[in-house]
Amino acid sequence: MTATHTVDHIHDQPMSEVALRSVAIEALLAEKGLLTADQVQEQVDRMDRRTPADGARVVARAWADDGFKARLLNDSRSALAEMGIRLPEETPHLTVVENTENVHHVVVCTLCSCYPRMLLGRPPDWYKSLAYRARAVRDPRGVMAEFGAEPPADAEVRVLDSTADMRYLVLPRRPAGTEGMSEEELAGLVTRDSMIGVTGALQP
Ligand code: FE
Repeated sequence: MTATHTVDHIHDQPMSEVALRSVAIEALLAEKGLLTADQVQEQVDRMDRRTPADGARVVARAWADDGFKARLLNDSRSALAEMGIRLPEETPHLTVVENTENVHHVVVCTLCSCYPRMLLGRPPDWYKSLAYRARAVRDPRGVMAEFGAEPPADAEVRVLDSTADMRYLVLPRRPAGTEGMSEEELAGLVTRDSMIGVTGALQP
């Protein structure tokens, strides 16, 4: 058995059922010659390298370039390819949704923890919590208030439920007073939470 990436993290603690299952599946796939331990490790490393800074760069580009924004909202795969970001070949698909004066989007996965990892890295623990998954749907404004955010009273709040096949990234509203800022400066205003939709972007 060569599932070192899993075993490394576990040390002396007994392995959970899920961990045991994943180690067994990996060992089986390796035994059948379908993948190697190195390939698994490479994927784990690739996942670990992704951070919300990737998503922030994309948002900043969309704020700075209307043409790019239109392409991003219409076909995220080819727009992201322009920036050298490659989405998985088939699924999950990525839909980018734009917050406006009138519509605010909040992303959740009610079933588990589906998340646009390709642009934001690993999800925060609260995103995976039962409390968030239930309350984001029932009371998105209440959840946002706890994050210190308040969309306009007359804005429609839309909650998007992620799935294994479809992930969502929120394009937050560009803050006022950011005219003339470079893309890099703009990216500094784009937080992970604003791309999940529980807050807006930072003010300059
Ligand atoms: Fe999920």
